[in-house]
Amino acid sequence: MTRTRTLFFLTLLVLLLSTSAVQAEPIVTINSPTVNLTDFKIGYYVDDSRELEYQQAREQTYRETTSTTTLGTNARVTWFKVIVDNASGETRTLDVHLPHAYHVQSVDFYEERDGQLIRTETLDLEKVEESNLMYRGVAVYPLTLPAGEATTLYVRSFAYSHQWFSLDILDEEHSRQALVGTSNDIALLVGMMLALVFYNFLLYFATSKRENIYYSLYLISGLVWIALSYGLVASLFDIYGSEIFMLNISLITMPIFLLLFMMAIFETKRFYPTEHRFLQALLIPLCGMLVWGFFDISAALKPASTAAAIMMVVTFSVSISLLRKGNPLAKFFLIGHSFFVIFNTMAVIFYKGLIEPTYLASHGVGIGIMLEAIMLAFIISYRIKILEDIRSSQDELKKQASTDPLTKLYNRRYFFSESDYLLQVAKNKQQPLAVLAIDIDHFKRVNDSHGHQIGDQVIVKLAQTLKAQSRSKDLLARFGGEEFVMLLPETDQEQALVCAERIRTAVEKQIIAITPEQQLSLAVSIGVAVINAEHESIEAALNRADKALYEAKNAGRNRVCINVEG
Ligand code: GH3
Ligand code: MG
Ligand code: MG
Repeated sequence: MTRTRTLFFLTLLVLLLSTSAVQAEPIVTINSPTVNLTDFKIGYYVDDSRELEYQQAREQTYRETTSTTTLGTNARVTWFKVIVDNASGETRTLDVHLPHAYHVQSVDFYEERDGQLIRTETLDLEKVEESNLMYRGVAVYPLTLPAGEATTLYVRSFAYSHQWFSLDILDEEHSRQALVGTSNDIALLVGMMLALVFYNFLLYFATSKRENIYYSLYLISGLVWIALSYGLVASLFDIYGSEIFMLNISLITMPIFLLLFMMAIFETKRFYPTEHRFLQALLIPLCGMLVWGFFDISAALKPASTAAAIMMVVTFSVSISLLRKGNPLAKFFLIGHSFFVIFNTMAVIFYKGLIEPTYLASHGVGIGIMLEAIMLAFIISYRIKILEDIRSSQDELKKQASTDPLTKLYNRRYFFSESDYLLQVAKNKQQPLAVLAIDIDHFKRVNDSHGHQIGDQVIVKLAQTLKAQSRSKDLLARFGGEEFVMLLPETDQEQALVCAERIRTAVEKQIIAITPEQQLSLAVSIGVAVINAEHESIEAALNRADKALYEAKNAGRNRVCINVEG
């Protein structure tokens, strides 16, 4: 009884296994007028010896995969197999597309019917011109299918590094459409990055900040690599193989410029010496790899993925450290860098053939670079904002240091720093320069009868009157309590007296309303001196003006006196 049962189950198992083996035969049936097959089952066999000929390869057992697949970095030489059964009742001419042909070393096609090899084609990417199968990075193999017959196609793909393979079977119209749309998405990505490059070069000319240059060079490295690995270079320029393999040097320059960018934007040398040393320690071997790469790019690229992994760990740790130290830019850098790390990790898993090929996974590096680039652009603009804030607060401080808080006129310190320059100008241009010393008459009385606060308001009003009476080129300053000094460029003795008299009259006429009921009028005494620019200092001329002012006070106030150089 148990024996019969075991036998029964065994038979069932054998049956099941055999049916699944039959199902594994990768057959595609053509039975409709339109053919647009992009997702179907194909067979694959990894040839580890890399030496199998067609006759041997067709005898192997093929495992099943999808028509777009990733078999990892170990599958250098892989045979793919698909059986196309034409059930449409008429002869069909279709195109087999290999959209990722641009990044392999060679592809061979073997077409077989009734067990007989009827056609074979070779596409060597070092000698693309010898074959007419390559169109802008896509290998296109025309397939003629007689009615009611099955044709078996074997494709041998010899990859440079990873086996990212895709096979589509299309009718004439879909074939044409697919070839027109090649790399449009990548062109858009690269275009956006190019725009950022131009913008950053412009920013560099405006700000002379090194980080803009490093960022531009980082972007250029990134976009070269994207254009190369996603077929844009192939599709735009029709160049393949070792001719453009050198462009992979961008994989080394990218981390170099990212490190330099970090050093510049965070000013690590100045503010974070420990982190700076870590970044430097990483930069040195990368520069070594770069030099090596110029001589032997394939060899130099071998440690590149290890170096990239180490770099991600170091840059990540450094940005976390900067974040903990309170750097305002670090969190944005960390976000951008996380995009880069996540998408790159996804891409690495994809290249190793460990996950299903999706658009995001297969374009992970490109998307990661792009997202990080956007974040870095944001960091640059944010830093400009920070620097601008610092500058405006510095401007504010400078202004505070040079003005008098009550009247907003310049103070004594600013007067002396500026008057030296004006004296120099007068000397050079041989123009006259005059100075007025102005003091309110009997100001103590204002304070005594109205209080100090009203006294302050009166000083402000008088300052406004003086300002209104001055020209834009005159330098007006409050020197102390109720004393003001005015420096008048391009003004001789006669003009200085006219000007002083005008000020005196204006003050005399001015009626200051303390309250709606209470009004008050003022007078000023003014001492004038014309500076002998050739051999006199501002201070000496000011002393003479003070003497004249003293004279005016003694002579009864509310008048102008001049001290003529004796
Ligand atoms: P004179 O005509 O001789 O100049 O008489 P004066 O009363 O104006 O005398 P003087 O210039 O020597 O005195 C200045 C007075 O102005 C002394 C002080 O009470 C007052 N004062 C100085 N600075 C300020 C200030 O900032 N605010 C106010 N409210 N009063 C001030
Ligand atoms: Mg005084
Ligand atoms: Mg006074």
